[in-house]
Amino acid sequence: MTAPAGAPPLAPTTLDLIGNTPLVRLAGPSAAAGCDIFGKCEFANPGASVKDRAALWIVRDAEARGSLRPGGTIVEGTAGNTGIGLALVANALGYKSVIVMPETQSREKMDTLRALGAELVLVPAAPFSNPGHFVHTSRRLAEETPGAVWANQFDNVANRRAHIESTAPEIWEQMEHRIDGFTCSVGTGGTLAGVGLGLKAFDESVTIALTDPHGAALYSWYAEGELRSEGTSVAEGIGQGRVTANLEGAPIDTQFRISDEEGLEWVARLLQEEGLCTGLSTGINVAGAVALGRQLVAQGKADARVATILCDTGFRYLSSLYNAEWLAAKGLPVFPWLAQ
Ligand code: PMP
Repeated sequence: MTAPAGAPPLAPTTLDLIGNTPLVRLAGPSAAAGCDIFGKCEFANPGASVKDRAALWIVRDAEARGSLRPGGTIVEGTAGNTGIGLALVANALGYKSVIVMPETQSREKMDTLRALGAELVLVPAAPFSNPGHFVHTSRRLAEETPGAVWANQFDNVANRRAHIESTAPEIWEQMEHRIDGFTCSVGTGGTLAGVGLGLKAFDESVTIALTDPHGAALYSWYAEGELRSEGTSVAEGIGQGRVTANLEGAPIDTQFRISDEEGLEWVARLLQEEGLCTGLSTGINVAGAVALGRQLVAQGKADARVATILCDTGFRYLSSLYNAEWLAAKGLPVFPWLAQ
């Protein structure tokens, strides 16, 4: 029996399941923007987030450089999706993974990484200037461990290459070479810079926008050339205070600043109206895409087409974003269906 036309091709290995994610038109955001808004379904990766791509490219890059050899170890300081992606890629290729994280992180995250087989190293929470900070600890640990490499996701540009070489061409094809704008938020900047550079290489006129949460310093950097943060955000995985190596030379045309409340409103609407359960960075991205769509329409592009990233699954946040007490304790609106 042959596969029906349009079915995804057979994957020769599990690593081939990373990327080639679906792109979906989002009805509510499109209606709100007055033009077409599309979401790249990165929750459909094996590790359920956009970071699987960075993990795979970082590991392949280390292999190509000869710094990662059979039986070697991948070390990273991260509590989140990158650790999950690295642990899965390491398993698939026969490497060990060591993830360093502050002991203040949620039990859920520790349990998840342990469940995947990563070795967890917990360190006390410390400011970045302290040599005991989890990022510095992970670098030292990689240096001291024979056969280990440090993933260094913030400043290792293999991260953004994942998006130049995979995410951007996929979006370009899926949108049938007609795209007017792209926006997303920044953790390392790999996604925004990589998709931005990749799409501009196909069509220089695509508007690339930063969508920044409150508490991050990049909105003011791109607006005024000054790193300055205002407010706070509970969004995980995004909110950057410096220009990482991945962000250097990113072709940013415009920028939006989105509050957690706006992001949460889209998280709620995507779930209730469209049946998509996502994390808060996705809600913030969608709010940014709506803002960009409206701006393009106002500039005379009535049929503008805008894409953004649906970064990870909401199932990762059951004890936070989808928990009434947690939301209330943070002073955030509780989703009506949780309030009973
Ligand atoms: N959303 C989530 C949930 C993430 O974990 C990350 C990665 N830190 C991002 C968005 C941002 O991706 P990037 O690191 O490519 O900027």
